[in-house]
Amino acid sequence: MSRLTLSEIAEAGVVGAGGAGFPTQVKLAAKADTVLLNAAECEPLFHKDKEILRAHADEVVAGLAAAMQLVGARRGEIGIKSKYEDVIELLRPKLAADMEIVPLEDAYPAGDEFILVYDVLGRVVPPGAIPLAVGAVVINVETAMNVARAAQEPVTEKLLTVAGAVAEPVTLRVPIGVSLAQCVAAAGGPTVAHATYMVGGVMMGVLEDNRDALVDKTTGGLVVLPEDHVVVRRRRQYWKQIVRIGRSACDQCSLCTELCPRWLLGHPIEPHRAMRSLGFSLTGEADVMGTAFCCECNLCSLYSCPEDLDPKSVCVQNKRRLAAEKRRWESPPLSPRRAESHLNNRKAPMKRLMNKLGLSQFPNVGPLRSGLMEASRVGIRLKQHAGVACEPVVKPGERVSKGQVVGRPPLSGGKPALGAPVHASIKGVVAEIRDGVVWIENR
Ligand code: SF4
Ligand code: SF4
Repeated sequence: MSRLTLSEIAEAGVVGAGGAGFPTQVKLAAKADTVLLNAAECEPLFHKDKEILRAHADEVVAGLAAAMQLVGARRGEIGIKSKYEDVIELLRPKLAADMEIVPLEDAYPAGDEFILVYDVLGRVVPPGAIPLAVGAVVINVETAMNVARAAQEPVTEKLLTVAGAVAEPVTLRVPIGVSLAQCVAAAGGPTVAHATYMVGGVMMGVLEDNRDALVDKTTGGLVVLPEDHVVVRRRRQYWKQIVRIGRSACDQCSLCTELCPRWLLGHPIEPHRAMRSLGFSLTGEADVMGTAFCCECNLCSLYSCPEDLDPKSVCVQNKRRLAAEKRRWESPPLSPRRAESHLNNRKAPMKRLMNKLGLSQFPNVGPLRSGLMEASRVGIRLKQHAGVACEPVVKPGERVSKGQVVGRPPLSGGKPALGAPVHASIKGVVAEIRDGVVWIENR
């Protein structure tokens, strides 16, 4: 592959294909000694990354090589769970001399960037920092594939696993802008009467009651659950309930802290203290600075707490309030030796987590279906990334081709603001532009 440029990546609209969708050209403008390919996919029932590696290993490795070249890295590391032996065997002969595979345990949250950096490189990212602080840039599997394709085609497709209570759990390749309901229908439809959608996974995703919500560049997958499933019931608890029950039932056993992945790395987050503060803060809410370092993995609420309380929501609520009030812990302490002594023997095994979450009843598979899902109408969101929403560059009635830019980040100080352009994922006519979405119909 000829040398790829940051502007080609930017023009192709490549963003982190999971999480917040950070623009990849900005991430790869940094300098680091290592690029880490995050293939540790640890959301229960998700299989997209393995399926991409099985089908597109050459492109993913090419994307890793391009990322290494751009950031000036000497090493490329691939973190993948050791149980995926077939994928590891497939990858090995394709790797360059400066790349290697680091097999990981089947635990949650192996795919958390900070945990991955520690497991693969033995480096602790300080609280409030990013992996770059310890010389690493982390990209995920689909992002690497999109980087490899950037010079030839923009991002117009998404791969996502549809799992849980569906007739045929599957990993689909869909045009960006189809609806969640279309994806569930493509997976054979729900197998339960009152189906609930968890977008982004059971642990870190969100409950989505709008079945017509749109797939965008960051939609990692979708788990369908019955409305009375324990995870759905926990997620439907409202804030006052969480506080009232938490205040009266938390016995300060501190298991939530003892198993918190960020506390185990040595960060100053202690969810049991946040729970304790519910009882004596003036607002009746938590008020503990360490919550700022919560990665929202949900392990404390859905796995660690023996009373089924919700320390994660308490931490997140407090973290958001601290941010809104612009309260920062300027020099948070770090206890890096805690990781050496505790992290390895306090991981949450996936099997135990799946049992605890009541997910073992669902088939844990998601084979990639060949071919792109057909769509006659798509909605391209103008904000599918971290940063500023795009402005539309097309008008209703205009004919567009697949891959044509339909929205661009606005200029800020003469340069494009942080963001990434968005492209038409099917050819057709711009039917309307409404509520931050460009609707395209194939007519
Ligand atoms: S694990 Fe549960 S009961 Fe124990 S301190 Fe944390 S929130 Fe309280
Ligand atoms: S969600 Fe809970 S376990 Fe995860 S980082 Fe936050 S406090 Fe720790």
